[in-house]
Amino acid sequence: MTTRIPQVRNLVTELPGPRSAALAARRTAAVAAGVGSSVPVYAADADGGVIVDIDGNSLIDFGSGIAVTSVGASDPAVAAAVAGQAAHFTHTCFMVTPYESYVAVAERLNALTPGDHEKRTVLFNSGAEAVENAIKIARLATGRDAVVAFDHAYHGRTNLTMGLTAKSMPYKKNFGPFAPELYRMPASYPYRDPAGTDGKQAAADAIDRIEKQIGADSLAAIIIEPIQGEGGFIVPAPGFLPALAEWARINGVVFIADEVQTGFARTGDWFACDDEGVVPDLITMAKGIAGGMPLSAVTGRADLLDAVHPGGLGGTYGGNPVACAAALAALDVMEERQLARRAREIGERIVTRLRRVADETGIIGDLRGRGAMIAAELVHPGTTEPAPEYARAAAAAALAEGVVILTCGTYGNVIRLLPPLVIGDDLLDDGLEVLAAALANAL
Ligand code: PMP
Repeated sequence: MTTRIPQVRNLVTELPGPRSAALAARRTAAVAAGVGSSVPVYAADADGGVIVDIDGNSLIDFGSGIAVTSVGASDPAVAAAVAGQAAHFTHTCFMVTPYESYVAVAERLNALTPGDHEKRTVLFNSGAEAVENAIKIARLATGRDAVVAFDHAYHGRTNLTMGLTAKSMPYKKNFGPFAPELYRMPASYPYRDPAGTDGKQAAADAIDRIEKQIGADSLAAIIIEPIQGEGGFIVPAPGFLPALAEWARINGVVFIADEVQTGFARTGDWFACDDEGVVPDLITMAKGIAGGMPLSAVTGRADLLDAVHPGGLGGTYGGNPVACAAALAALDVMEERQLARRAREIGERIVTRLRRVADETGIIGDLRGRGAMIAAELVHPGTTEPAPEYARAAAAAALAEGVVILTCGTYGNVIRLLPPLVIGDDLLDDGLEVLAAALANAL
């Protein structure tokens, strides 16, 4: 693979460098304090697995802008598609003067998503907007109100999606009141919940509560991330998702898979649901879909999407033509470069290296994930007690050496790795060595 920027880690200043430090001061005076940033350096360029900051430091990117730039942050085909479309029209509004690329993206998503039933697609801008609309569709199509989400869930920051999201700080606290008729059920978290290791039993427990607390005939939808992202890359025990989906099917409840973080080759398949052959009624997508351009989608059963009256779904920018052009190019790149297969290779390399760290340090209580979506849940050695301070220290130490690492988890104690799927082995290995040392020193 050829890249524009050399694929090496190279620090020419301490981090943050003087230019980033100066920008931080301007930012404090201009940007709302409520917007946080994981790293204190400002980007100038990015390509493959490298981000170059405004001081000339080359950092290894293990976050992909939260699972977005799977094809890289400046893939040439995506960049050409964006420029080509922008030179013709940047916007007409699909609800006013439609254009082909929106239809083409819908066709691609209908074909790629799990299940060979008849499907329809509607496009939006963000993950949260896709989730909101999936709930709207489910409620209208079923004529029911209640929605079930799960412990450790993350579905967004708008009012409805905050209500579906589990974690109070920083996402919900003092931002209420939240939308009504949202219910939370226990998830399958095999590491922390012994009952969660039996997927079928964990699903039966959740279903029992749903039937007692809500009643199937009041329930419009179950929404679940097939691997919980912000909650800590929690992979449910085998059998959990299929049992929930089957119960939903029998009871006329819309089963929504939120694949905003897991979608588009990230987990080694096109979608995380593919792993157990789960076929959702609706699937929400965003992040990796368009090589970094803002685009999201709801794809699913034609009878559900077509139940909505014309004009009931939409938005000024939804399915913007520049974003659609980028998506078509990014999907081609994923196919041509077989990035799903590459995601599996990346995952194996990460797990092999971090398993050694786990054995040597005892601070990795659970190493989990799938494909290039791998997490290390950090604990005090010999216990399962969460160690968020180790996660913070390891991420900071890795950054000081030029590796961008994100944390997550209900307990804030999870190191998560989401490298671009176009990262090369040398760069990946270099980043993993830095992370391994950072973890060893976190103790
Ligand atoms: N659902 C999931 C599973 C997510 O991971 C996210 C973003 N982290 C969202 C929804 C919300 O997406 P956005 O930030 O684009 O609104």
